[in-house]
Amino acid sequence: MADQLNLNCFIKTEKDSHFPLQNLPYGIFKTSDNPNPRAGTAIGKFILDLSVLESEGFFSDVFKDRKKIFSNSYLNLFMSLGSDVRKRIRKILQHILSIDNPALKDNDSLRKQCLIDSGRCEMCMPVNVGDYTDFYSSKEHATNVGIMFRGKDNALMSNWLHLPVAYHGRASSVVLSGTDIIRPKGQTKADDADMPTFGPTKLLDFELEMGYFIGTGNKLGEPVPVEKADEHIFGMVLVNDWSARDIQKWEYVPLGPFLAKNFATSISPWIVTLEALEPFKTKKIIQEPEPLPYLKSRGSWFYDINLEVSLKTDKLNEPFVISRSNYKYMYWDICQQLAHHTVTGCNMRTGDLLASGTISGPDKSSYGSMLELTWRGAEPVKLPGNEERKFLADGDELIISGWCDGNNYRVGFGEVKGKILPAV
Ligand code: CA
Repeated sequence: MADQLNLNCFIKTEKDSHFPLQNLPYGIFKTSDNPNPRAGTAIGKFILDLSVLESEGFFSDVFKDRKKIFSNSYLNLFMSLGSDVRKRIRKILQHILSIDNPALKDNDSLRKQCLIDSGRCEMCMPVNVGDYTDFYSSKEHATNVGIMFRGKDNALMSNWLHLPVAYHGRASSVVLSGTDIIRPKGQTKADDADMPTFGPTKLLDFELEMGYFIGTGNKLGEPVPVEKADEHIFGMVLVNDWSARDIQKWEYVPLGPFLAKNFATSISPWIVTLEALEPFKTKKIIQEPEPLPYLKSRGSWFYDINLEVSLKTDKLNEPFVISRSNYKYMYWDICQQLAHHTVTGCNMRTGDLLASGTISGPDKSSYGSMLELTWRGAEPVKLPGNEERKFLADGDELIISGWCDGNNYRVGFGEVKGKILPAV
């Protein structure tokens, strides 16, 4: 367990708050009295308006001549300034919020301007997402799906242990938590049918994932070496890669997922930086067979992040937990994924989103999709009040939350949620 940092904030936060001084995630928000989207950080039940602090000159030593970094509708400009700038801003924020510093603590009018009750804020899309790639880096998930579709003996494809498999997704349909998800229609074909049919998906699913945003990109033709990959990563979010299993099954041969995945991918509003996650790094896992040299990570880039999936149906009064998992169950780490993605010279740009792929743990209670939790619908998930689900129904709301447990504090991601609306 990570120890409490030697930090005291003048804003008291509860032990189970996702947003103590140790976190300081970045997001974009607006309020009714100022509808301009702008950058903020979450601290307990408040949002600290970074655009106000910037205009008051708190960051001028770091930003120098660069102006209005935090008053943009997206974080991209700030993200593009790199990890050194991000680390320096974090230090300044921790100092501003420190109990020993009167600059904000004892300045009533400034506090009123820049510390806003989060209940009065509406979160906005934090990043103008450029490209979106989804990996497939949980061995348990890949094995489970492999067993279902190809049998136990061919569960993992022969390439899987040698490279982080992925597909290129759609950035246009990456949406903020809380956005409704309209049940997609598409072409499906039952095993015993001669011809495909068209209609709303019957097998709508979620995928429990995490993703990371690229801060600084790389030039076309210049791969990011695995030992420098972390310098390009800004921070992480929770991801739900909504999936239509029946559409997927019929369309995916031979080029992989297409319409089964392109209708929506939800992300949580706060981006938690690698600095905040640093105390929660876990031991490097042993990869057998040994990866090729270009994929050999320096250190460990796995994190102990508790993940919880809940389902709220029309009949339930409160969400019911259907899975408890952890990000540490990943096989390929973020630096290996980025090094592999760029090894051809493929260029990353600020704001690109790279997701983990469905995260499943070793046992059934930790699986990251309905496909696995119900084993393709054979064993429905039992809910309170005699309800059950094989896949997601109209009106269902799926909620993913994630947090790291420290010694008497948490560094959390908040949640990513979405409600299923009927097909149109
Ligand atoms: Ca996925």
